[in-house]
Amino acid sequence: MGQPYDLVVIGAGSGGVRAARMAATYGAKVAILEEYRVGGTCVIRGCVPKKLFVYASRFADMFEVAESFGWQVDAKFDWPTLVANKDKEIARLEAAYVANLEKAGVEIIRDRGIVTGPNSVHLVKAGRDLDTRFILVATGGHAGKPDIPGAELGITSNEAFNLEALPHSILIEGAGYIGLEFATIFAGLGVKTTVIYRGDRILRGFDEDVRTGVDAGMQERGIKFIYETTIRTMRKFGDDIEVTFSDDVVAPFGAVMFATGRQPNVANFGLEALGVRLTPMGAIAVDEYSRTNLPSIYAVGDVTGRANLTPVAIREGAAFAETVFNDNPTAVDLSLVATAVFAEPEAATIGLTEVEAATHGDIDIYLTRFRPMINTLSLKSQRMMLKLITLADGGKVIGCHIVGPGAAEMIQLVAVPMAMGASKADFDRAIAVHPTAAEELVTFKAPTYRYRNGAKL
Ligand code: NDP
Repeated sequence: MGQPYDLVVIGAGSGGVRAARMAATYGAKVAILEEYRVGGTCVIRGCVPKKLFVYASRFADMFEVAESFGWQVDAKFDWPTLVANKDKEIARLEAAYVANLEKAGVEIIRDRGIVTGPNSVHLVKAGRDLDTRFILVATGGHAGKPDIPGAELGITSNEAFNLEALPHSILIEGAGYIGLEFATIFAGLGVKTTVIYRGDRILRGFDEDVRTGVDAGMQERGIKFIYETTIRTMRKFGDDIEVTFSDDVVAPFGAVMFATGRQPNVANFGLEALGVRLTPMGAIAVDEYSRTNLPSIYAVGDVTGRANLTPVAIREGAAFAETVFNDNPTAVDLSLVATAVFAEPEAATIGLTEVEAATHGDIDIYLTRFRPMINTLSLKSQRMMLKLITLADGGKVIGCHIVGPGAAEMIQLVAVPMAMGASKADFDRAIAVHPTAAEELVTFKAPTYRYRNGAKL
């Protein structure tokens, strides 16, 4: 055993880094272990490179409408340039994460940690043990592949960020966040893109108007959707991959990508042997302070499977540090989490869906659809959708759903009044900013329709 630590964090992603830095700021002796790159999924192969790629893909839409504003554009796209510039930015961010950890006095150990006891962690490469008061597991998750013949021929989002060349066509299985965001990216960059989904409508769990709005917009952008179908087998077919679907249809694709969900990284670092309790979904079970069933072991972020979102992991990491190292027990409130799907069209959402809200008493729905101004001079027919859901009694806003340009930026700001419990009247007091799409949220007059006793009127 070396010098005792107050905290050993396993995993230098969003949640782990925030917890480590804050704990160190509160005077704790902290080490953070990372076997890959500092920054975690979000920075290295998730949110950040994804958003950069989404920006790249959206130029296609801008070029499409450019002529209607008098521009003539002869644009060419170079994939290696995008990948190289993305890598440069990721390296810059990683260096910033390292610098911030070091500035806070956190020791960064580039090694894999195995939890060998409630207060001890073994370093695999170094072959030594760390003695610590607390352990924070922040190991995130990983992209999975379905268990089908030929699955090894397919890629996940990990590989999609670093392809040597763009394929001529791609089949993406899964119609959640990652499937739709990467379909947006590939289609925008000129790849013939097909999404295959086992259900009958994309984005399960989202408001129905978001689901139909994104579906229609993506189809208008040339993306093909195959519903109620899965990939049964895959095999090499020249330079392509031949895919057999569950309905026996066979078709070749330049690449196949699985976006069928992410699993928490819980295996092979000692937790099983210690008896750390898992949820039925295989994530680490924690209480509202992120504590596991072992009092000295905590867990935050995707490995706990609460809400697999970077800002949630960061909030959980901060609350952990407050609770354990600042004598300020802080539970994380995940009752109102705004989120966005960076597809094209973009979708953003907070609070209850219409279907959920209709089971919560009498509600009013304010809904508008229109062509965003950027498209009005062109033939592009893609529409925007903005929806507010309010309680009939008192007008409290309990849901907001947006599809279209700027949806993510808008929902971030709607999250503030909603967290304060704002009502429709509070929204109405705001004077509109004109001409914007967001002004629709403060200028709704009468409800578009209502639910009374669960029935739509
Ligand atoms: P999601 O859970 O969002 O979507 C998975 C998709 O794959 C769903 O359409 C699901 O269908 C389908 N699916 C699951 N299992 C199978 C299977 N065995 N065979 C066929 N289809 C299957 O996961 P993602 O991978 O898209 O993303 C993982 C998480 O990462 C998200 O939940 C999100 O929290 C986070 N994330 C957030 C982003 C953001 O904030 N913008 C961006 C990217 C990721 P069904 O609907 O029927 O279950």
